[in-house]
Amino acid sequence: MQETLNVDPAELAKFSELAHRWWDMESEFKPLHQINPLRLGWIESLAPLAGRKVVDVGCGGGILSDAMARRGAEVLGVDLADRSLKVARLHALEAGTAGVQYRRVSAEDLAAEQPAAFDVVTCMEMLEHVPDPASVVRACATMVKPGGWVFFSTINRNAKAFLTAIVGAEYLLRMLPRGTHEYARLIQPSELAAFGRAAGLDLQASRGLHYNPLNRRYSLTSDTSVNYMIATRRAGGEQGA
Ligand code: SAH
Repeated sequence: MQETLNVDPAELAKFSELAHRWWDMESEFKPLHQINPLRLGWIESLAPLAGRKVVDVGCGGGILSDAMARRGAEVLGVDLADRSLKVARLHALEAGTAGVQYRRVSAEDLAAEQPAAFDVVTCMEMLEHVPDPASVVRACATMVKPGGWVFFSTINRNAKAFLTAIVGAEYLLRMLPRGTHEYARLIQPSELAAFGRAAGLDLQASRGLHYNPLNRRYSLTSDTSVNYMIATRRAGGEQGA
């Protein structure tokens, strides 16, 4: 199978470097652990997971994949960073999580291999790390069944997002290593929705993820100005919400 070029090796290296810390709740990945119950709950409120076939694109150490499998989904987590996938597999083994598998394959190659094969596709905090995010969105649209759901999350691109997600999180609060996010790669909700529309995915809902530095907690809001998620759906099919 042909390896696509839609990957930035420097981005994969950043995550590989930290791979052993994916399941350390106090590590650089703490924000992902903190937002996980919020995004899982939102996904489930729109697309119940039990018994559903799910692919988690850019799964990393499997924080979301594992949680979705624990809700009864049959989950395939895919990423291009081998070290993260090893950590994800080891975690599933140690935690005794059933129904989750991990594989090194690009979204584009998996889409060519398994079109219309999944009830739900998730692609969280990943698009801002790839050279051609629209190509990943198209791959997600190809993989989902007609009527199925595709969820994306990323970071908005504007002055507030720059100050909060880059200056605040990386330099002031030091929640993330410097250089985790590059401003030019951030994606506005309208751009992401347009990538989806062009790929046959209709926008259903969106949510902001707000971090409160005073109590150090995240909450779901309607404000998508910094971190946000969108839910989209492929037309057709008979699957209910
Ligand atoms: N989705 C996970 C991890 C987010 S971190 C979560 O939200 O918990 C971003 C992930 O994207 C990393 O695991 C990194 O290896 C992966 N990634 C970056 N570029 C990629 C690409 N081109 N294809 C697949 N995965 C990629």
